[in-house]
Amino acid sequence: MTKITDVQTLLLRFPEGSSFSDAQHHFGKRAGVVLRVHTDTGVTGHSYCYFGVSARSAEAVQDLIDLQLAPVLIGQDPFQPRRLRDRMWHEQEYTGIEGIAHFALTTIDTALWDIMARALRVPGWQLLGACRDCIPAYAMVGWYYDNDPDLDTYRRAIATAMEDGMAGVKIKVGRGTLEEDLHRIAVARSLVGADGVLMVDANQVFDRVEAMRRGRAYEEAGVYWYEEPLRPHDKEGYADLCAALDVPVAAGENEYTKYHVAELLQARGCDILQPDARRTGGPSEWMEIAGLAAALHVPIASHGGDGVATHLLMATPSAIWCETGGKPKGPGNFVDRPRIDGGYIYAPEAPGFGMEIRQELIDRYGVRR
Ligand SMILES: [Mg+2]
Repeated sequence: MTKITDVQTLLLRFPEGSSFSDAQHHFGKRAGVVLRVHTDTGVTGHSYCYFGVSARSAEAVQDLIDLQLAPVLIGQDPFQPRRLRDRMWHEQEYTGIEGIAHFALTTIDTALWDIMARALRVPGWQLLGACRDCIPAYAMVGWYYDNDPDLDTYRRAIATAMEDGMAGVKIKVGRGTLEEDLHRIAVARSLVGADGVLMVDANQVFDRVEAMRRGRAYEEAGVYWYEEPLRPHDKEGYADLCAALDVPVAAGENEYTKYHVAELLQARGCDILQPDARRTGGPSEWMEIAGLAAALHVPIASHGGDGVATHLLMATPSAIWCETGGKPKGPGNFVDRPRIDGGYIYAPEAPGFGMEIRQELIDRYGVRR
C-alpha cells in the first residue's frame, strides 16, 4: 500500500496587474495555494487552488489544509480518494462543507488523483476513462476592462480570439443598462460574424424580473447561451427562465457538491450545466456530477478549462464545451498545458492531472507565512 508521508502548501501572491470586471466582481488581487502531497513511493501529487477575487481566501484554504486536513491524510492510501474525501468531509462538516472548506477539499482530492495518474504513468483523462482527446474551446474575453470607455480593449480581445481560431466568444453583460448590453453584443457580433458563437454571462446580477426582461432581449439578439442571470440559490427562478426562454440558460459554476447540482437539475433550472473544477469537489465529485447530468440529459460546459478541468472534460461524455481565456500568449501557470488549436483544446499527454505549477512562479511569487 502506498502511504502519504507529507502534505506541503505554499501561498502564491501575485502583484496587481491589469484588471477587469464582470457584472459584480473586480479581478485584480490574485493569489493561489500550491499543494504537494508526498508518498513513500517517491511519487508526489500536485494541485493548485486559485483565486482571482477574494485573494485573502487563499490563506484560509492554506490554513485549512495545513491545520485541519493534512493530519487526516498522513499515513493514508492516496489510491482511496473517495474514502479520504469522506473523512475530510466529516472533519469539516461542523463548520460547513461549502465555500472555502470545499476549495480545500477539492485541492486535496485533485492531488490524490494526480498521485494515482503519475504512479500509473498515464494522463489524468485516460485514468478516468476517456471519451475524447479534444473538445471545442471558446474564449471568455469580453470582460469589462478598466479604462475602456470606447470598448477598444474589448474589441481587440475579441478580435484576437477570432484570429486565433477560437470556436466561440463569451462576453460579460449586466453591469450597466440593457442598452449598454445590446451595444456590447452588437460590437462582439460584428467581430464573430453572423453565424459565430457568442455567449453572454451576467454573473448572478439580476433579480427575477430583470433576468426575464434581459433574457428576452439577449434571445432576440441571437446569443448562443445566457449564463448565470440569478444567484445560484434561486432554483425556481432559473426554472422559470428555462421554461420561458428559447435561448439556452447555462448555470452551475457556483454550485458546491453533487447535492446542489442535483437540486438545480431536478428543478430543470439549466439547459447547460457548468461545473467548476474547484467548487465541485475534485475528480471524485465531478465524475458523479457528470453522471447525474448525463442521466437527466443536460450537457456540460466547464467553468474554467485549464489544469484538471481539461482532463475531466475528456472523460465526460456529455461535455460539449471547454471555457478558456483564449489561446495562451505566454507560458501560463502550469508545467504541462493543453494545446489550443483550430477551436479545440487538446488534453496533455504527460502523466498526471496537469496541476503542477511552474517553478518560476513559485520562485517569484511564493510567500512564506
Ligand atoms: Mg460564468
